[in-house]
Amino acid sequence: MSDRSVELWVKREDLVHQDLGGNKWRKLKYNLLEAVSSGASYMGTFGGAYSNHIYAVAAAGALLQIPTVGIIRGEELYPLNPTLSFAQSRGMTLSYISRERYRQKNTPVFQEYLHQHFPPSGYWVPEGGTNERAITGVEEMAQEIMAQLEIAALPNVVAVASGTGGTAAGLIRGLSPAGVRVLAFSALKGNFLKREIDSWLPDSQTARSWGLVTSYHFGGYARHSKELLRFIEDFFDRFGIPLEPVYTGKMFFGLVEMIKERYFEPGTRILAIHTGGLQGLQGFEERFGNLLKRS
Ligand SMILES: *Cc1c(COP(=O)(O)O)cnc(C)c1O
Repeated sequence: MSDRSVELWVKREDLVHQDLGGNKWRKLKYNLLEAVSSGASYMGTFGGAYSNHIYAVAAAGALLQIPTVGIIRGEELYPLNPTLSFAQSRGMTLSYISRERYRQKNTPVFQEYLHQHFPPSGYWVPEGGTNERAITGVEEMAQEIMAQLEIAALPNVVAVASGTGGTAAGLIRGLSPAGVRVLAFSALKGNFLKREIDSWLPDSQTARSWGLVTSYHFGGYARHSKELLRFIEDFFDRFGIPLEPVYTGKMFFGLVEMIKERYFEPGTRILAIHTGGLQGLQGFEERFGNLLKRS
């Protein structure tokens, strides 16, 4: 796509694998290797009932034959939503905890709860999957971008949707030495991601290597508007690229707005990362059935 001499390229991480694609695969790779090599008897993690991370861990467990445990925030509701019914179909053991307890998940009280309820031989990954190993996995995506595009065609800007900021952090680490600026589009309200992302970066990579875009959250995490849904349909009609309303739809919406507003200098080459998450369209089957079939 080219508009007023700005180029927009898309890296289709959504096409990596049917069940285990997008950024979640990159983030899980070294965690899975560690779980296997350390002889863990299962992999455990946390998430909301619509978590793409839960979905990916369940898929990985089935593919690698590692038992998985998913601690889900909130009550057990039947019928299971598409994310949880997929997770269960892939053999994930689902365990539900109250929102109050879930909020304590980074405290010793919660560690105690885990010790009491699950065997000690598990390998645990944090909510959203962001840890040092995850960021190492994303850095490989940065290397791949440089190898695929070669020096002459390196993008000036790489755009990515952000939740925990782990994917953005890995891209910044890998790309800023080559002079590529990363723009992280927050899918959540507020600017807390500034500090989150910075906390994963060496001191040498601060303000100038990346930017946070906070104006396209559409009301907050998993919120959306008719305008956003219309944009997703229109984007698919024009470019044949399916997006979903939680992450990638918001990022592309924001990017297209910014291009229209001439935020980028003429000649800027932008590479947008399609981070996947298309199974999230299953909550919108009536509207997006055609995108699901084609994707
Ligand atoms: C999880 C997810 C993100 C956010 O990744 P973070 O590393 O948590 O910032 C972006 N896009 C999609 C499709 C996701 O599933």
